[in-house]
Amino acid sequence: MQRIEHIYIDGQFVAPHGEEWFDLHDPSTERVIGQVRLGDAHDAQRAIAAAKAAFPAWSRSSREERVDALQRMHRAVAAREDELMEAVILEYGAPTQRSRWMATYPADVIAQAIEALQAFEFEEQAGSARVAMTPVGVAGLITPWNSNAGFICNKLATALAAGCTAVIKPSEMSALQTRVVAEALHEAGLPKGVFNIVNGRGDIVGEQIARHPDVAKISFTGSSAVGQHLVAAGAASMKRVTLELGGKSPTLVLDDADFAAIMPLVLMAGFANSGQACIAGTRILVPRHRLAEFEAVARHAVAQIKSGDPRQADTDIGPMVSARQWQRVQGYIRLGIEEGATLLAGGEGRPDGLDAGWFVKPTIFTGAHNAMRIAREEIFGPVLTIIAYADEAEAIAIANDTDYGLSALVLGSDVDRCERVARQIDAGRVLVNTLAHEPRAPFGGFKHSGLGREMGRWGIGAYLEPKTLLITR
Ligand code: NAD
Repeated sequence: MQRIEHIYIDGQFVAPHGEEWFDLHDPSTERVIGQVRLGDAHDAQRAIAAAKAAFPAWSRSSREERVDALQRMHRAVAAREDELMEAVILEYGAPTQRSRWMATYPADVIAQAIEALQAFEFEEQAGSARVAMTPVGVAGLITPWNSNAGFICNKLATALAAGCTAVIKPSEMSALQTRVVAEALHEAGLPKGVFNIVNGRGDIVGEQIARHPDVAKISFTGSSAVGQHLVAAGAASMKRVTLELGGKSPTLVLDDADFAAIMPLVLMAGFANSGQACIAGTRILVPRHRLAEFEAVARHAVAQIKSGDPRQADTDIGPMVSARQWQRVQGYIRLGIEEGATLLAGGEGRPDGLDAGWFVKPTIFTGAHNAMRIAREEIFGPVLTIIAYADEAEAIAIANDTDYGLSALVLGSDVDRCERVARQIDAGRVLVNTLAHEPRAPFGGFKHSGLGREMGRWGIGAYLEPKTLLITR
């Protein structure tokens, strides 16, 4: 039983003013494995005050000083890889392959921020003016449970690179990861107050950060509903906002695709992180004249996908993070059946042989259309929907007929044609015949999938205001 009592304010681990204890579960067993003491509005205010006090000095620090601090952060977080891996498996049941990535990504993303900072142009000439990119102030960083350590490190490294100081509100469900990261960041020996971490509920600590006049910017990753709320909550104090939100991404299979060859990518795109990924390719668009052939290949391939114990090396899909999320996914499977879609694989209940743990059968619907709720709403579990299309124009129209626009995958044999199609899809990132990730490129969504971009110079720029200087000497 782990008890996580402290939050991190002004360079120290301190007991929070808040007194509520929140249970942490192992989703593979449903057992309580620990408790975290949550901060409250008072704790959030103390953290904001510390970040505000640290801002003048940090905002004037040189590029070299920031690079040096980020390098210390990088070394400290990289040294915690194994502990982070254990935390993500225990805390949300990430399967082994995924959890290794989850454990290395936090340090990698700091290294990427260092690279972006080293190349960043903080000043440029615009006609007769100098334009100085100026840090906005205290940043409120709010993270989701499905990549908590990664988003803490990404958002913090980028904010610090820009010269901002920060208050972090991690997901309350990710306290084990947060503790590992907080200890590593403490060891990095940054000036006190430049970052502060307050465990707490979204509607208490998150809300305080979202409304506080001394917070200039919010960077949030999470659901679209909370993201919309944050824009409204920050309006009175004119907060700058970067939002990384949900998705209902299309995997567009063109009619010249080799189905056997592309099926691993189709399933990996849909079932990544046990289907609990914002970028998951959950709508699979397939040419109608080859639908039966696609279904046969998919049925065979999904039968090889293993949902179960995340510690076993051959497990592809781990449990859902919580009982609530498990019930939500079950509800969508029932809904799909009620809406008239046909189950090609999976269905309600746990996979055979498992009688505990929030496990879900890898599920694929077919015979669906894009107006169904299972095709429109983010399910956040291993539930995919095949939708047939008549021709390329209809495929593109279906791909774009969504409130979301985070990611898309186009699969086909003629790469030039794939690229032509990719350019017509409204999404922040479109992949062609690959699931590769490019950390130097901007990441974020169109439409309800977000506002602004993270990563690279786009990420740093989101924490800066251009200041125009016109000087007569
Ligand atoms: P969530 O929106 O429920 O919570 C995210 C964070 O917001 C948590 O820390 C939570 O405590 C906090 N929060 C909740 N209410 C708040 C409020 N009123 N004010 C301030 N903060 C508040 O999301 P989740 O369930 O943790 O994560 C899953 C969601 O995140 C999915 O929709 C997924 O698509 C999205 N996501 C997006 C990306 C991306 O990069 N686009 C990446 C990962 C996850």
